[in-house]
Amino acid sequence: MGMVVTIDGPAASGKSSVSRELASRLGWQWVSTGAFYRGLGYAALQMQVDISDVKSLTELSYSSVWSVKMANARTHVFFKEKDVTDDIFREDVGSIASKISHYPEVRTALLEAQRKCSSGSQGLVAEGRDCGTVVFPEAQAKIYLTASSEHRAARRAAELGLDQGQTQEAQKVRDQQDSTRKAAPLQVPAHALVLDTTDMALEEVVDSVENFVRSKLNK
Ligand code: C5P
Repeated sequence: MGMVVTIDGPAASGKSSVSRELASRLGWQWVSTGAFYRGLGYAALQMQVDISDVKSLTELSYSSVWSVKMANARTHVFFKEKDVTDDIFREDVGSIASKISHYPEVRTALLEAQRKCSSGSQGLVAEGRDCGTVVFPEAQAKIYLTASSEHRAARRAAELGLDQGQTQEAQKVRDQQDSTRKAAPLQVPAHALVLDTTDMALEEVVDSVENFVRSKLNK
């Protein structure tokens, strides 16, 4: 396994933008582990798999009908060889991802593929909900990003051209589900740098995170 930095936090807390920029500064790869849950949710929608049927969902987790591929700009999802990355970022897919992510069987099925992202490269920035606690507990540096609910909703609504109020409601439900589930809930990993980015510019956040990571790597 190469070096790993994890960035966890609630919906739209800036994890992807910060991970992308940090990885570029370090010359490392990055992965959005949410893409695995979104990809599976999207595949379940397309294949009309009942999302309360854990057995079928777990089978679909291992299926080659869908896949995830890392790249510098985004983590891509393919379904039947077609790049569906633009579609998986819709909030309805996010909501399905959150619903299916509470099944321990599904989480276990997706874990190995997420861990594989750290092999074959010098380093990996992995972002999600349980990257520092479950996926990469041995990571060299762990970060937890958060921001006010209004700020996060405004950010995502502007990005996707959506209504801010509705986005905020949908995110609240998702955050509540993600933090209260039994299997790998969203939580602050031990020894993590915790940053509230509400009043911070992206560059400021990346500067702080980079300083923290470099101090850990030089130890
Ligand atoms: O990060 P993103 O918003 O793309 O994640 C979508 C959903 O996938 C989250 O709301 C969460 O339920 C699930 N997820 C997870 N564990 C991760 C990453 C995402 O349960 N490491």
